[in-house]
Amino acid sequence: MRTGIATVCLSGTLEDKLQAAAHAGFDGIEIFEPDLITSRLSPREVRIRAAELGLSIDLYQPFRDFEGVPPERLERNLRRAEAKFEVMDELGADTILVCSNVSADAIDDDELASRQLRALADRAQAHGIRVAYEALAWGRRVSEYDHAWRIVEAADHPALGVCLDSFHILSRGSSLRAIADISPDKLFFVQLADAPHLIMDVLQWSRHYRCFPGQGGFDLTEFTARVLATGYGGPFSLEVFNDVFRQADPERMAVDARRSLLLLEESVQRPSDAARLAQPAVLAGYAFVELAVEPSSVGETQRLLHAIGFSQTALHRTKPVALWQQREVRVLLNAGAPAGPAITAIAVESSDPSRSAARAEMLLAPILARQRGPGEAELAAVSAPDGTSVFFCRSDQHGGTDQWLDDFEPLGAVAGSELVSVERIDHVGLTQPFDYFDEAVLFYRSILGLAPLESVELAAPHGLVRSRAVTSADGAIRLVLNVSVLAADSDPHGGAQHVAFACSDIFTVARHLHDIGVATLSIPANYYDDLAARYELAPEQLEAMQELGVLYDRSPEGEFLHFYSATLAGRLFFEVVERRGAYAGYGAANAPVRMAAQREPAAATSSA
Ligand code: MG
Ligand code: MG
Repeated sequence: MRTGIATVCLSGTLEDKLQAAAHAGFDGIEIFEPDLITSRLSPREVRIRAAELGLSIDLYQPFRDFEGVPPERLERNLRRAEAKFEVMDELGADTILVCSNVSADAIDDDELASRQLRALADRAQAHGIRVAYEALAWGRRVSEYDHAWRIVEAADHPALGVCLDSFHILSRGSSLRAIADISPDKLFFVQLADAPHLIMDVLQWSRHYRCFPGQGGFDLTEFTARVLATGYGGPFSLEVFNDVFRQADPERMAVDARRSLLLLEESVQRPSDAARLAQPAVLAGYAFVELAVEPSSVGETQRLLHAIGFSQTALHRTKPVALWQQREVRVLLNAGAPAGPAITAIAVESSDPSRSAARAEMLLAPILARQRGPGEAELAAVSAPDGTSVFFCRSDQHGGTDQWLDDFEPLGAVAGSELVSVERIDHVGLTQPFDYFDEAVLFYRSILGLAPLESVELAAPHGLVRSRAVTSADGAIRLVLNVSVLAADSDPHGGAQHVAFACSDIFTVARHLHDIGVATLSIPANYYDDLAARYELAPEQLEAMQELGVLYDRSPEGEFLHFYSATLAGRLFFEVVERRGAYAGYGAANAPVRMAAQREPAAATSSA
């Protein structure tokens, strides 16, 4: 699959964009005209720069409001086009995008549109240029791709074809069946963009909310498979207008964009490409979560871990890292961090850590070079966009090369709490920097083979928070990614991170904390009044929930009970959850209550 990206997808100068696209491994680019107009590079210099970087210039765009105009306006439009063709000659670009007319006076006459496009194709052909006609979803007379194809087919000119743009087609919910009718030599260009399902004006939706394939809600796999089935051999080029991407680091965004195409290519399962990506290994759950805590928060962190039933069982042989464990649930505590507290690493139990790492590398994840002492396990790890380390482990292979537990010196018999126990890490909540959210969703989705749920918006007291979970099919790995909907300088991460532990009896765990004087997050009485109105819960249960700060949610599949610890230095908290039945959510309805409670100065219940 030949890949491309429109310069409009990336931030920076035209040079920045070209460089980022080349570094990420794209084959070609679309030059978005405003990016050329604002550049000090001449078209010829752009051509040279692109060639130096190994990029072809696959498209020049957009050329607007050309067809379906009163005949007396045709000559002026053709003159306008001539000027573009001269620029394209200098650029070395051989295809121009003509999008369907949006002006109010566009004439509803396919025959006229065909004739005028034919005249344009004649002029283009003299320059060795092809015209790719695209139906904009909000085109005045032509807004469907099959309509554009009928006009192009009727014009019957070798230099005139169509451009298919997934956004314009999927945003209208058009049937994809007519793609098969387009002959491959007339399919000049294909643009890909995903988008979240939104109900809004389609032009605004397109200009602000497009995203890379796999980040939104469109079925790009189906679309791409149908395009490939025509025999199309041209580029698949990303054309994404996104407010956040436009202001993010272009090098990072270009990698994210390229990753989206690698994943898409895998999903269409072309036999020739099948060998390229290593299949995701089976993930059995979390091996550990690593916390970095600055000295002033160490005591409080240890106290909380102990209260939840963990004991310090081992120390790393060479690093200031302690292993806290109960049953097979493990938390690494790095107590020497300069700042924090933070979740610095997550580790997943992989059936094949080296395959997991190979897949991640193919998907352009940076491989982490580890400093390793003599005899220490080699841990396969990659870096997530926000810097969180992601380790691939096997904890069940004693003596194996990836036996990371052997790097820890057991402390001997330790007194744990026998009363309380959690059974596994239920989920990890990673709050993302403002412009990393969609990228993070795609990163975890692709590298770990997780499926994203729909994103939800939660009303926090300090602004809206967007939240999206990515999970493995059996729920063994659940990650919740959060981000502030609007950037706030005071809170670049949009809130705290958390680790949620699953237990089978939330009241025993919560009661134990209460009894030993470890405060849980205090929940307002109004919440319980509302809960009583919404659900028929036994009064004793409600009373216990209120006393212990336990929250409640219900779905047709089951129930969810959970409570939160105090927040460490405003940055990190723990959650304990009990899932009943097949409840698959995270208590999103309760998140605003939690966030409001955490905002209070003394955000904890008075201890027992
Ligand atoms: Mg387009
Ligand atoms: Mg949670």
